[in-house]
Amino acid sequence: MITDTDTIDRALRLDGNAVAGELQMLLNLDVTILQMTCSHCHKEGIFANLLAYVRGPGLVLRCPTCDGLILQLVKSPSGSILTVEGLAADIKSTIIP
Ligand SMILES: [Zn+2]
Repeated sequence: MITDTDTIDRALRLDGNAVAGELQMLLNLDVTILQMTCSHCHKEGIFANLLAYVRGPGLVLRCPTCDGLILQLVKSPSGSILTVEGLAADIKSTIIP
């Protein structure tokens, strides 16, 4: 059964590409090409396929398989807080220009 909440959730959902520019400025790397493993369900994938929610006070990235929290970025006047709790330690490859 699809609820109104599910419909609204899908309407607000983007993919990881939507936050790539902001994370690239913060981390100085192209996150869209990162291969990662979700620490919640252990599904492997690329960062660009994560589910992005950007309409809150910050941005949230969730796993497309289990909906587990992968990354959260909250901005305030005094700075940004980046929390990465849903990535397994085995990020496989990163290309840093
Ligand atoms: Zn997952």
